[in-house]
Amino acid sequence: MSIELPEAKILAEQINKELRGKRVKSYHLQDHERLQKIGMMDKDTKSFDKLVNGKIESVISRGNVMRVKLDNGMNLILGPEYGGIISYNASREKASSVFHLRVDFADDSALTVRLTSMGLINAVKDNDLERSYVYRRDFNPNIISPIDKEFTFERFSKLLAKNNRALKSVLVGKDAVVVGLSNSAFQDIIYRAKLHPKRKASELNTVEKQALYDAIRHVLRERIRLNGKDQFYDLYGNQGSYTPAMGPNMKDQKCPTCGTPIEKLSLGGGHVFFCPKCQK
Ligand SMILES: [Zn+2]
Repeated sequence: MSIELPEAKILAEQINKELRGKRVKSYHLQDHERLQKIGMMDKDTKSFDKLVNGKIESVISRGNVMRVKLDNGMNLILGPEYGGIISYNASREKASSVFHLRVDFADDSALTVRLTSMGLINAVKDNDLERSYVYRRDFNPNIISPIDKEFTFERFSKLLAKNNRALKSVLVGKDAVVVGLSNSAFQDIIYRAKLHPKRKASELNTVEKQALYDAIRHVLRERIRLNGKDQFYDLYGNQGSYTPAMGPNMKDQKCPTCGTPIEKLSLGGGHVFFCPKCQK
């Protein structure tokens, strides 16, 4: 159910197609006190008042974060990265009744947003975008997105060479050299690249770097092509169909390539499943 780079891109494109040009009539918040208490939604819900009467101008994503830009200087920032459901319904009456935020439009359609785990919902002015933690993190132009054209092998190779750190911290989290990769994507990627989870970025040889680069591109491209991971639901409730090659789904299983039992490591504040034989 997590919404990471591929799923955020799928949703942003769908929301853009469906909502662009629509005017916000009103909004409703529900069960939001807990989210506010733990910093997952603006403390002052008056910020959402400013969305009203704005017309949706564009919807884009970068990393795991979506930016819904309105023509009145406001933005709705959605970052349901650890779990969330965002749905659209042409008729407000038929929209899901389970939501944290529902935005109603002048033509009677509605967008509902529900966080099912850690994530963020912010209503922010253009000038204050940097105040949204997830926006600041994933829309940072100095950190490359692995689906951008500028993400070339040469550039990635240099970034790896500069970083004498474990691969996980180079690819995932606040010190990562790219945006939008999660622990889940990491396990899938390094299994395909045949790299051990404890390897250091700067120690990879050219062949290994190329395998890692290819695996990143492959995983992201396939997840986008297959409408997201298998527990993801898009804007219309269609389920994704991408199954990771490695991750919690492979617990107690054998490696499909060599038959060795899959092992689990604690690494960088999370678990990493891997094949001790294929991944060196
Ligand atoms: Zn194996």
